[in-house]
Amino acid sequence: MFLGHYGIAFAAKRVAPRASLGALTFAAQFLDELWPILLLLGVEQVRIVPGLMAMSPLDFTYYPYSHSLVMAIVWGVLIGGVYFLLRRYGSGAWVMGLLVVSHWFLDVPMHRPDLALWPGLSSPKIGWGLWNWAPLPWLIEFVIYAAGVSIYARATHARDRIGSWGLWAYVLVLAILYVTSNGSPPPNERVLAWMALGVWLFVPWAWWIDKHRDYIGRLRIPIERPTTF
Ligand SMILES: [Zn+2]
Repeated sequence: MFLGHYGIAFAAKRVAPRASLGALTFAAQFLDELWPILLLLGVEQVRIVPGLMAMSPLDFTYYPYSHSLVMAIVWGVLIGGVYFLLRRYGSGAWVMGLLVVSHWFLDVPMHRPDLALWPGLSSPKIGWGLWNWAPLPWLIEFVIYAAGVSIYARATHARDRIGSWGLWAYVLVLAILYVTSNGSPPPNERVLAWMALGVWLFVPWAWWIDKHRDYIGRLRIPIERPTTF
């Protein structure tokens, strides 16, 4: 899954309003932010197999540290804990931890059975393989994404143009990235890993947008305009 993770991060703002969208995005996409680093370090492995699945040519041969359930929980506890130490915001820390773990559960419907429960050869691997069922994944991803964006856009209010245009540019760039990622696969695994590092860009970008928007909660507060007579 790709867009769905960002959708969940957007929606989480309603549950943890004092957490920045940057932090929430960092947490929801953490497993995919860690993955290219572990690939480049040679700790995890992937193979590009064109035609492997209708919507993904990636054969995730070995990625137990970024994408097993137990490790997702470990990362979630660590990130939630560090967040709490830094911000002293309890519900924010819980949301951060749960977002990290949510990534694994959102990946399960899309992937082939390549997601381990724990690191080690004895672990069963699961995945429902929806990436073979185009256009179903598109539908699921866009529904979660649109729902998340709409929750965030209604719960916050742009303070200036960065807050409004910056948000819509971000939303559009992610959607375009998702739609175009179905084109020709990268030439080799190294290029793939370097390209995958690009997900890090969306963390400061989300933080920047969020700094230019105010949280207004469930209801839109009517903006009082000065009456001129
Ligand atoms: Zn993932």
